[in-house]
Amino acid sequence: MGRVPVLVADWLRSALDFALPPRCPGCGVIVADVHIFCADCWKQVEFLGDSGCHSCGLPLEATEQTTCGRCLGKPPRIARMRAAVAYDDLSRGLAIRLKYGRKVAIARTMAHYMAPLVRPEGEAILIPVPLHRTRLWTRGFNQSALVASELSRRLKVPANPLLLRRTRRTPPLKGMSPVQRRKTVAGAFRIADKAAVAGKTVILVDDVLTTGSTAEACASVLKRAGAARVELVTWARVVKPSQLMR
Ligand SMILES: [Zn+2]
Ligand SMILES: [Zn+2]
Repeated sequence: MGRVPVLVADWLRSALDFALPPRCPGCGVIVADVHIFCADCWKQVEFLGDSGCHSCGLPLEATEQTTCGRCLGKPPRIARMRAAVAYDDLSRGLAIRLKYGRKVAIARTMAHYMAPLVRPEGEAILIPVPLHRTRLWTRGFNQSALVASELSRRLKVPANPLLLRRTRRTPPLKGMSPVQRRKTVAGAFRIADKAAVAGKTVILVDDVLTTGSTAEACASVLKRAGAARVELVTWARVVKPSQLMR
């Protein structure tokens, strides 16, 4: 019985999605099909695709083969990082509207471009980067959990937003140096059920990747809980270091 309202809400949402004309996820003008950017926005979006370092995804130097020198020197805790697009005003706008605007439609658009970048190895599970419960209460939902559930639907990989918890409220990392960021998020996460991640490939899902310090902190507790491999997929990624301070 408890599921009925959810089903009705789902049905209403699908009916509405069907009835409303599709809009450009970048600027909102009416477009021919869902998830498609209008011509102006399309020119602006920088899709990152699957090029770059096999592990961290950053652009490779001409001399490097498939893995960058940094990842070869010290294998990163997150075995594979991928982002659909570069972080700029347009992709940032989508991330903001995912938090405050047409949530489900935006989450679907993001998942549409993120899903092809996920190649789960072995038994995999999608885990959104969690919010602290006080932030969850004020916002009412975790935007990354919405994207994870859309990815789950597309990839047929289970998603669980409850396995990883944020036990400490951390201040916004904006404007902090990479070292400050690492210190701020260290020890802020906990696994609710270690058996549920042990031996699995965990695919962390987040909206924006900046320095990766939050995802690193998540990966460290996941590895300690016995996860075989941790990957990260995000909507946007900061590729210009100057944007970190914004
Ligand atoms: Zn547009
Ligand atoms: Zn690398």
